Amino acid sequence: MTDFPSPSDRPKTARSAAFRLFRPVIFAVGIIGVTVGAVIVIHHRSQTQVAAVAPPAPPASPPITLSDPEPAPPITTADFKGFDLKPADQQADAEPPASDRYELTLRLERGDTVEKVLADINVPEADRKQIDSALKALLKKRRLAVGESIDLQLQTMPDQPDAPRVLALSIRPQPQREYIVTRRDDGSYEALEKIYQVRPRIVRVDATRRGSLQQSGMKAGAPTAATLEFIRALSYDVDFQRELKEGQRFTLLLEQQVTSDGLVVDPGRLLAGELKLTNRTITVMRFRPQGGAEGFYDPKGESVVRSFLRTPMDASHITSGFGMRMHPIMGFSAMHTGVDFGAPTGTPIFAAGAGKVVMAGSNGGYGIFVKLQHTSQIGTGYGHMSRLGPGIRPGVSVRQGQVIGFVGSTGLSTGPHLHYEFYRNGHPVNPLAQKFAMRAVVGGKDLARFRVLSRQYLNELKNAPPIAEASAPAKAKENAQFARDE
Ligand SMILES: [Zn+2]
Repeated sequence: MTDFPSPSDRPKTARSAAFRLFRPVIFAVGIIGVTVGAVIVIHHRSQTQVAAVAPPAPPASPPITLSDPEPAPPITTADFKGFDLKPADQQADAEPPASDRYELTLRLERGDTVEKVLADINVPEADRKQIDSALKALLKKRRLAVGESIDLQLQTMPDQPDAPRVLALSIRPQPQREYIVTRRDDGSYEALEKIYQVRPRIVRVDATRRGSLQQSGMKAGAPTAATLEFIRALSYDVDFQRELKEGQRFTLLLEQQVTSDGLVVDPGRLLAGELKLTNRTITVMRFRPQGGAEGFYDPKGESVVRSFLRTPMDASHITSGFGMRMHPIMGFSAMHTGVDFGAPTGTPIFAAGAGKVVMAGSNGGYGIFVKLQHTSQIGTGYGHMSRLGPGIRPGVSVRQGQVIGFVGSTGLSTGPHLHYEFYRNGHPVNPLAQKFAMRAVVGGKDLARFRVLSRQYLNELKNAPPIAEASAPAKAKENAQFARDE
């Protein structure tokens, strides 16, 4: 607010100057008072008719004479009319006059115009018209949206206390663009458009897992989209049911888009992320190979995306593993050729990988069953479904993650669960023991570029400014509001 020193400053300054100027006088008067008082006391005690003579007074003070036996009249400030002799502390406590300048933010409502808004707060018509035409010349054909805020700097004029004067008006329909109308000294209004540059800013969000990863990320200040992207990138590798524990720490590296005055235009795109599990740390980083699609890679340059999902379903838990076991219905020991995931009826089941449906429908003890062939060697099977997914029938192709059916308890089953099988060359193997090597790897021309980026991200995951610190000077908008230029 350095552009507009408070008008109340001036009288106050003048008053203190007067006080400083006459301080010696006040002191002198005080000394005289004390001396006179002492003389009177001595005089009354001695009971003698002695005319007390006041000590020599400073030139500015009026002559004081004592006429005994009447007591000396008290010396008051009334003797020094014209001087403001209020004690210093009283002066400091005196309330400064209320500022006649103030700020106001109004919103455009349906059917509003800026002129109408100004009319509503009683801005004089001549000013309104000038502001409106200055603004119109600037906006040209662009229209202001309903709900747009109008920041006003107003001044109350002594001659017309009910009709405020507009000193400045600002509208910022986009973070990069601000329209400002200001009052010139001659009372006319000028309008200018201020363009703020938008530049990227790298920030770090440090979070601790309390509850879900998503909530913990949001609580730490990460945007939802970036947190979800991080979780998806982790989901190929991390077994969320078994490996996630409370209190585990994770870090997101974000690229925000920020205007030159500190307004965040984009809250942050995920560049990299790191999750510290009990026995290992997973790091994922965004990279786009030449001519390829953007994706997430580990620091060694292997794509996080695997040919197969670890679990073909969300929010599931393993109720029965792969191998020999006592069959719950048959009552004898038998080979369990898959893994059972317990989940409520109707939970969607995803294709573990891209492939072709080779079987879809009733299949004895398996109930409603789907079998997918992914490569010439690898297939997957899904049993006990309550129903098939939309369009799932033999011969159709499916994408990884596509819903192929829903959890149920059809066939030989004691309750709703998914029986999941994994086949290599036609033989069931333990799905959880498979090491899927079929991952894209950064190579060739991309490798050198990836290594530089990978080193940079690993460093920034530790050293980039934390999001809270980076966002601290967010008051910049208010400060820049009425500045003429950058
Ligand atoms: Zn089973």
